[in-house]
Amino acid sequence: MRLIISSCLLGVACRYDGRSKPSAAVRDLARKAEVVGVCPEAASGLPVPRPPAEQRGGRVLLADGTDVTEEFRLGAARSLAKVRARPAPLAVLKAKSPSCGVHHIYDGTYTGSLTEGEGVFARLLEEEGICVVSEEVVESCKPSVEHPVAIVLGTGLGHLAKLVRPVRRVDYHDVEGFPEEARPMAGHSFEATIGSIDDVPVVVYPGRIHLYQGYSAAEVTSLVRHAHRLGCRDVIFACATGAIRGNAEPGLGILCDQINLTGRNPLAEWDEVRGVDNPFVDMTDAYSPYLRTLARSVAEDEGIEVAEGVYAGVLGPCFETEAEVRALAGLGVSYVGMSTVNEVIMARALGMNVLGLTLATNYSGASDTSHQSVLEESGRKEEEFQKLVRGVLRML
Ligand code: SF4
Repeated sequence: MRLIISSCLLGVACRYDGRSKPSAAVRDLARKAEVVGVCPEAASGLPVPRPPAEQRGGRVLLADGTDVTEEFRLGAARSLAKVRARPAPLAVLKAKSPSCGVHHIYDGTYTGSLTEGEGVFARLLEEEGICVVSEEVVESCKPSVEHPVAIVLGTGLGHLAKLVRPVRRVDYHDVEGFPEEARPMAGHSFEATIGSIDDVPVVVYPGRIHLYQGYSAAEVTSLVRHAHRLGCRDVIFACATGAIRGNAEPGLGILCDQINLTGRNPLAEWDEVRGVDNPFVDMTDAYSPYLRTLARSVAEDEGIEVAEGVYAGVLGPCFETEAEVRALAGLGVSYVGMSTVNEVIMARALGMNVLGLTLATNYSGASDTSHQSVLEESGRKEEEFQKLVRGVLRML
């Protein structure tokens, strides 16, 4: 995997003050990839040291009032040429900088205050279609013993739990909010394992309950709240789905967005859902662009065929009619299933980083669809699915 990284995050002393701003998490990521280091300000030829620069009114000004807009544009263009010579799907750039800042930059008052906006170089990379994130995203996704990665597995995908080196097991019935009477269906198990996979701390939930079994949205999302209480910041949701003909093929997929067609929302169940301060949750980029890009790159490196598409969550339990399949296709849906959407809403409400993976076991609406056929197809793809998840964990 190839990555673009701001040189100052790697420890290169290229900042305006002649210093660097190394990030341990970014350096760790860099060790696992081929890196294209860039410093657009150094590429501009501006002297070092110099006063700090900030953007104001579409210009870039040094703190002493010197207008360096053209120098910043030149440095960004030169750095873009370097990147084009060695293309990469992902860039990790220094937060807040007038060159490298992503989504938020210093506001031109030189007081440390921020405003919405992009650094001059960051904007160019975004226009190239590169996923651009700050070091803060890499740091927040970095797992540790205090912050293990939660992995919630769907129908037929529970075999991944066998990879865990266990430290402790938790019966789902000991999880707050999980229904006392719930029993696992075929292809599910109701015991979470806390431990590690390839030395990465994880909590694996090898099965789930569904709305179609009569449970509330608060109940089906109790495992997410449990993971959050254990300290998990990243959560990987894996689910079996049907592919919407015309938009997707059966096989492995990465979820890039969702449509909640279940008619339920855990955040509307005020009495049951605790720990959520603000139910008016921003669902933009609900599936982390950073984690999606890592997953795509891992798949490419490992030679795993994987598509990307929008997931529609329906109540179930019956499969879709032909008219419903046509409607979903018209809505831009690639995958349809009976889980995940409410869990993703809960995870985002708790500020967690979400990766959604699916195995489309058949075409939605196919007449030979059955719970058994879903289990059989999951078994056939077991090895590739495990490789993909392990590859993502390795990169975090
Ligand atoms: S933030 Fe970007 S431009 Fe500024 S020193 Fe770091 S790499 Fe260079």
